[in-house]
Amino acid sequence: MNATPAKNIDTAEVLGHFINNAEVADNGRLLPITNPATGEVTRQVAMASRETVESAITAAHAAFPAWRNTPPAKRARIMFRYKQLLEEHADEIAAALTNEHGKVLDDAMGEFGRGVEVVDYACGIAEMLKGEYSRNVGPDIDSWSEFQPLGVVAGITPFNFPAMVPMWMYPMAIACGNTFILKPSEKDPSAPMIAGRLLKEAGLPAGVFNIVNGDKEAVNTLLEDKRVQAVSFVGSTPIAEHIYNTGTKNGKRVQALGGAKNHAVVMPDADIDNAVSALMGAAFGSCGERCMAISVAVCVGDEVADAVVSKMQAEILDLKVGNGNDVSNHMGPLITKVHHDKVRGYVELGIEEGADLVADGRDLVVDGHEQGFFLGPCLFDNVTSEMRIYQEEIFGPVLCVVRAESEEQAMQLINDHEYGNGTCIFTRDGEAARYFADNIQVGMVGINVPLPVPVAYHSFGGWKRSLFGDLFAYGPDSVRFYTRRKTITQRWPSGGVREKAQFSFPGRQ
Ligand code: NAD
Repeated sequence: MNATPAKNIDTAEVLGHFINNAEVADNGRLLPITNPATGEVTRQVAMASRETVESAITAAHAAFPAWRNTPPAKRARIMFRYKQLLEEHADEIAAALTNEHGKVLDDAMGEFGRGVEVVDYACGIAEMLKGEYSRNVGPDIDSWSEFQPLGVVAGITPFNFPAMVPMWMYPMAIACGNTFILKPSEKDPSAPMIAGRLLKEAGLPAGVFNIVNGDKEAVNTLLEDKRVQAVSFVGSTPIAEHIYNTGTKNGKRVQALGGAKNHAVVMPDADIDNAVSALMGAAFGSCGERCMAISVAVCVGDEVADAVVSKMQAEILDLKVGNGNDVSNHMGPLITKVHHDKVRGYVELGIEEGADLVADGRDLVVDGHEQGFFLGPCLFDNVTSEMRIYQEEIFGPVLCVVRAESEEQAMQLINDHEYGNGTCIFTRDGEAARYFADNIQVGMVGINVPLPVPVAYHSFGGWKRSLFGDLFAYGPDSVRFYTRRKTITQRWPSGGVREKAQFSFPGRQ
């Protein structure tokens, strides 16, 4: 999609920005937003210019001193009200997700619910900011550590979880006392906008939360402006690496979560029927557009592989693909025509590379939705680690079956892969599962759990090239990411005795 110059801006049809608790139009470029199930352009979104982003940074910078000094319990009360409002608007937000992303309505509700969990967690912020205190670390000396907010922080988010991923970031950043600027994906910006507006209704002061819609130009402005102290990014690995390198070079704290190639290992003792059901949902749910989607099934032994492949072929025949508004469908379309063609290209590449395409979704046509970006589920057998369809993230409904001879060999494949976001083992053997969890080089591990997405009070993140930075998203790590530790040592000498100067380093008292 190419941006076109704006002509007449009709604010009913054009999504602008949200700055200082007000909707802001923009006379800059516009990008069409398309319903991927129908291929129709539904509205346009403004692409923020440098000046627009700078005005959002100015608003957030001005709001910071008062917000930083607002008692954490008062900040939490706004989060409570926000959670309530989100739940009241759940249907509206889920509908926006389905219309712009394409995912099935139930799946949209699931995404939304996982985002609201982080708001629940943020309601307990006062407890998390209590700090540490030690009395009498020396004569008449007390010491404590406190966690101070950073200032203006930015979040840049991907298309695949337009509501949840922003909520991984801003509820905790704001609850910690920072002010925030969100730059959502330009492909499906309406749901984050609805959720964002509700913060105003919940009582959040102007400037504490802002949204700038846009692309590279907006992101570069956020990365270059000295007033932005930290950046949370979620998206593809090449962009994550660029954001991390540029942001840290400019002195910012950065966490940048990237792409994935998540393997599930099916052991010979696994409950194969349950493993197959789990693989169906984890590979094809949300059309494979999840960073935790299983895209490789490593079957240990040919017997397991043959059983998994034949059972999946049968289940694929029953998988319903169509408009996400019809909840009887299991899978919706891909996000754009460009992405559809890219994923289809990978299917063709897999055939050229010599893998066996045992389920082919390329010719799928959804009646009444001939212009939609649909691709049926695709299953490759006999995939090997030299193939590009194994090495690269496809981000579509394509599952690769790799055959391994042992748990060790399966684990070696995973440990050698450049990505390390999520993984899973299907087994009934506790010892094998424990060994796997202990030694696998991946950030989030499931044992008979195909999508081990941590709950809000743990933290989410991958290893290797799935995460640039040290701290995971949400949960306890987010308090560390969005605050800076300060340690204060205080002395109130008693007795009024004049003390001699000490020239040696203060030692043990
Ligand atoms: P993307 O990297 O194309 O875009 C992500 C964000 O970066 C968007 O807001 C986009 O506008 C911005 N952006 C894109 N190109 C840019 C550039 N050149 N300079 C500056 N900013 C730029 O990702 P996407 O296609 O929206 O999302 C899919 C990707 O996100 C997949 O790779 C998926 O694995 C990953 N993802 C990862 C996680 C995780 O937690 N690790 C979660 C969700 C998605």
